[in-house]
Amino acid sequence: MKKNGVVYLVGAGPGDPGLITQKGLKRLGSCDALVYDSLASDYFLDEVPDYCRKIYVGKRAGAHSMKQEEINRLLVELAEEGLNVVRLKGGDPFVFGRGGEEILTLSEAGIPFEVVPGVTSAVAALSMAGIPVTHRAVSRSFHVMTGHTLSENGTLPPDFDSFAKLSGTLVFLMGLSNLSLIVNGLIKNGKSEDTPAAVIENGTLPEQRIVRGTLNDIESRAKQAEIKSPAIIVAGDVAALDFSSTLNLPLKGCRIGITGTESFTGRLHQELAEHGGITDSVLTLSIDSYRSGEAMNEAYQRLKTYSWLIFTSANAVREFFHRTFRRRL
Ligand code: SAH
Repeated sequence: MKKNGVVYLVGAGPGDPGLITQKGLKRLGSCDALVYDSLASDYFLDEVPDYCRKIYVGKRAGAHSMKQEEINRLLVELAEEGLNVVRLKGGDPFVFGRGGEEILTLSEAGIPFEVVPGVTSAVAALSMAGIPVTHRAVSRSFHVMTGHTLSENGTLPPDFDSFAKLSGTLVFLMGLSNLSLIVNGLIKNGKSEDTPAAVIENGTLPEQRIVRGTLNDIESRAKQAEIKSPAIIVAGDVAALDFSSTLNLPLKGCRIGITGTESFTGRLHQELAEHGGITDSVLTLSIDSYRSGEAMNEAYQRLKTYSWLIFTSANAVREFFHRTFRRRL
């Protein structure tokens, strides 16, 4: 009988690929299968080994997304094939990430698992936007709530009222489409209309946008700026603070078109993003492999007779050695 593989539930961090943990990156570097969704950066796809099976289970425009039960089952099946699986999730796996449900299914099936925590957007998106989630004498606590369940019947959940009365920083995830309900609910429960508020779109990424205001006008400001998901809503006095970085990144505001293979543009994107640039892949190159063609077969037969091998690119090196390792040449 095959030994079951391990499932690693890894938090990918809030968006910026630099904000994954070292442990998470290490697990990515040695997994046989990767199960990921849209909150995890595409750039992590380059961090897995060549042989790794990559399975997308999130929502993308027009595409049907996998149901949670299907994802749970998929993880079990992959592990039962003996594969070590990384289940990559945006932020931290347990912050509205349904990580717990996956773990319950894995335990029932007797699959070993490990959780690698992640930097949650509920804190990091605020930090990068210059809003400290707590601040001495301004906010002594922070409270994170989903704004998503609110929409089911268009009313606020029963515990919303007590949440709204808390004096600390209030953070709403998945709340953008319910911004109006949330703002009105806070005011109705005693928050002043002048309470500072902010909405952060694409936090920690070069595309990050922040709208600041008060409970009175944050909704119209967010509408005017056409803020889209993923976005975080913050209400509380810290939302008036601005500790955003004073570094003047040289590529800030530049949109740069890049070309190349996926792994190349991935690295280029990361480098440019670190300097504040936003990249668009305008032309993707792919590699056609001739490693099993006639000419290469012959060349492999005659390998011993060559005194020099010259590689013209990193791709050539990868293609060539893929075959030599396979054949144990
Ligand atoms: N586990 C994740 C949250 C998953 S719920 C975490 O710990 O961060 C998804 C919600 O998170 C989104 O609807 C949005 O409200 C928020 N979110 C995640 N990443 C974000 C980002 N980079 N910028 C703004 N909001 C983000």
